[in-house]
Amino acid sequence: MFLDLDRFKEVNDSFGHEMGDKLIQKVAIEIRHQLRDEDTIARFGGDEFAILIHQYHHPHDLIIVVEKILSVFRQAFIFDEIQLFSTCGIGIATFPENGADASTLMKNADAAMYKAKKNGQNRYEFYNHDMTKQAYERVNLERELRYALTHNELEVYYQPQIDMSTQKVLGLEILMRWNHPQRGLISPDQFIPFAEEIGLIVEMDRWAMEVAMKQVYRWQQQGLRPGKLSLNLSLIQLNQVDFLASVQHAIAQSLMVPQDLIFEITETQIMRNPEQATRTLTHLKELGLSLAIDDFGTGHSSLSYLKNFPIDKLKIDQSFVHDMTTDKDDANLVKAIINIAKSLEMDVIAEGVETQDQVEMLINYGCYEAQGFYYSKPLTKTDFEVFLKSH
Ligand SMILES: [Mg+2]
Repeated sequence: MFLDLDRFKEVNDSFGHEMGDKLIQKVAIEIRHQLRDEDTIARFGGDEFAILIHQYHHPHDLIIVVEKILSVFRQAFIFDEIQLFSTCGIGIATFPENGADASTLMKNADAAMYKAKKNGQNRYEFYNHDMTKQAYERVNLERELRYALTHNELEVYYQPQIDMSTQKVLGLEILMRWNHPQRGLISPDQFIPFAEEIGLIVEMDRWAMEVAMKQVYRWQQQGLRPGKLSLNLSLIQLNQVDFLASVQHAIAQSLMVPQDLIFEITETQIMRNPEQATRTLTHLKELGLSLAIDDFGTGHSSLSYLKNFPIDKLKIDQSFVHDMTTDKDDANLVKAIINIAKSLEMDVIAEGVETQDQVEMLINYGCYEAQGFYYSKPLTKTDFEVFLKSH
């Protein structure tokens, strides 16, 4: 990174060179505080600094560093009798994309820095413009998502789960939608992975869990029989030290009984750290609720783990269900999963059921529980209530 202070000459001219030198020193020290031990900052000349960020995983990591550096310039530099405000521009070049040797990287970071300065104060620019664009979009999306969470832009949707033989509602899975003021309704696959990446998923899921539990309890009080409430769980949540306490708290607040709750976790998430997942899931089960493996069949879990997981239910991934009536292999896999569930005395539900043929085939194989567009798409609170009353 190349960092250049704005209008440094004015400091020298108005307060003298001694103050200019002090400012340079202070800037260096403050930036140093924002870097890791393995990073390097050097004064390159005049009011220019070169910063070397050693090892990063994702361009987003660089943005986090840049934002920290810029935060230094958002407050005054305080000297005995004077407070000075200063701004800067930062150019970023990455190895090996923007240069294979130091001098090329420096030259390109310098070029990026000039572009940044042209755009205003306290700006940054990647040498590669697409990276700058992506970086701004990410920063924007993160800001918008944080705003959404606290300003009622997120909404809980309810996906009915049906007994295919009796058409009765057995439960519901909750999903989140984002009512973006400009972009309209945004589906979860467009923001949940991002929320997981930035860690915001923890707060979002807690919020959704509380909303849904209270709502389901209200329906129960009205005699509407919504069945069991399924909540999606992410690995990040499982790793939170206060996760169990937050679940207990939400249950107590909502007045729901734990026996009406199912937590879903994907196979992939469990398999990232099976031992730890098993421990936490066991504690969770001790609260009296049930556990399901989501998207089963896609995450390479071994059968020996499956035997040891405290799991009550398998959810057959929709990709198998989707092609089961046309693809013999998929049909056999679905049949096999149903049989695994039966032999391990677990419940089983098919995800993404869309046609009458699939329903008949599933019933034939001994699976009676389903969710999917054949029965209903995810519904708003009001629509789910209507759905309950008509079933
Ligand atoms: Mg799920």
